[in-house]
Amino acid sequence: MKNHAITLEDRYCAHNYEPLPVVLSSGKGIWLWDQDGKRYMDMMSAYSAVSFGHSHPALVAALSKQASQLAVVSRAFYSDQLGPFLQLLCEMTGMPKALPMNSGAEAVETAIKAARKWGHKVKGIADQTAEIIVCRGNFAGRTTTIVGFSSEDQYRDGFGPFSGGFVSVPFGDAAALEAAITPRTAAFLVEPIQGEAGIIVPPEGYLAKCREICDRHNVLLICDEVQTGLGRTGRLLASDHDGIKPDGLILGKALGGGLLPVSAFLAREDLMAVFTPGDHGSTFGGNPLSAAVGHAALRLLREEKLADNAQRMGERLLTGLRAIPHPAIRQVRGKGLLIGMDLDPSFISAREFCERLMQQGILSKDTHDTVVRFAPPLIITANDIDAALEAIKHTFSSLLTPPAHLTERSYA
Ligand SMILES: *Cc1c(COP(=O)(O)O)cnc(C)c1O
Repeated sequence: MKNHAITLEDRYCAHNYEPLPVVLSSGKGIWLWDQDGKRYMDMMSAYSAVSFGHSHPALVAALSKQASQLAVVSRAFYSDQLGPFLQLLCEMTGMPKALPMNSGAEAVETAIKAARKWGHKVKGIADQTAEIIVCRGNFAGRTTTIVGFSSEDQYRDGFGPFSGGFVSVPFGDAAALEAAITPRTAAFLVEPIQGEAGIIVPPEGYLAKCREICDRHNVLLICDEVQTGLGRTGRLLASDHDGIKPDGLILGKALGGGLLPVSAFLAREDLMAVFTPGDHGSTFGGNPLSAAVGHAALRLLREEKLADNAQRMGERLLTGLRAIPHPAIRQVRGKGLLIGMDLDPSFISAREFCERLMQQGILSKDTHDTVVRFAPPLIITANDIDAALEAIKHTFSSLLTPPAHLTERSYA
């Protein structure tokens, strides 16, 4: 008989996800518990939103204090929370201005609007003709404009007509970016590491080359760090690995401390200056509750040096995964605690692997059929990494031996 919670969700919720068959009811740190009290290690972190672990006491305290003080007033008024939050956000990221939103997709939409208006009003591109270059394999959310520039058929199928003004180039190919730039190009929008595409790491120095190309052509470099930002890859920003600063920066996911949706578009002064009162907004964006939690999350990130921990623990996990001698593993890649393990589907699908991992007490999720994502909260310890590696090894050891055709191919 099906679990009641699953039955209800299946009955009443839109079927736009395909969850693993586990019903979670509590969480603490890197751990999650299901209804029967079985414990799981969270290797998913809600698509990298739960960097601080579940129910972090400092964040829960900030949330409940602010919730009982003042939660939502809209930006029709000033609040005593928004300024201090954005001051710390700007100081930590080195960006002069921030525009607070809620979801990642909204912050990406904000970046697109800023880039187009800057293109038309500052760069001098003829109105309605500005173009934004994006990368194939991108993921930037699910609004109609955003799925319109996706290269994934499923994300687009049936949802058009789409907005024009986007040009795609291969990810990781700086020469292709330069070749695609025209006088109409306002911006290049890029993820430093493509998360949803399957944790795709570009060649060393790619972003630095893109920076140089964008400078040469007066094109804005906008980094979508909704997933890679805030310590996830072992540096505060993934663009820090290349030592560059983008003109526009998009943050989300972990910015809400794993408690609330909080996102932001950050930009250099002349780019953010295109917005004047009435141009853009959000009822909930920058509300005192989000600001208080976002502020507490940033302080925690800095005080606990979580980017450094992500660097060290990521190294340990990557090394451990790469040392598993199983022929089903095609590649293990990633930076910091954003790691993807690409499996040969003739052994097992990533989905089935995740279901087996779940039985071993590890929760993760497949992306793109063949990739298993490992992205635990950044607070994870070496002991927990080692325990995860043991469970992963155990899952591999229970896998059947390779099918005959594969063994043959390997001798060919
Ligand atoms: C998740 C994600 C988004 C969208 O964020 P939502 O909060 O789901 O709208 C945008 N960009 C990247 C790189 C993401 O990983």
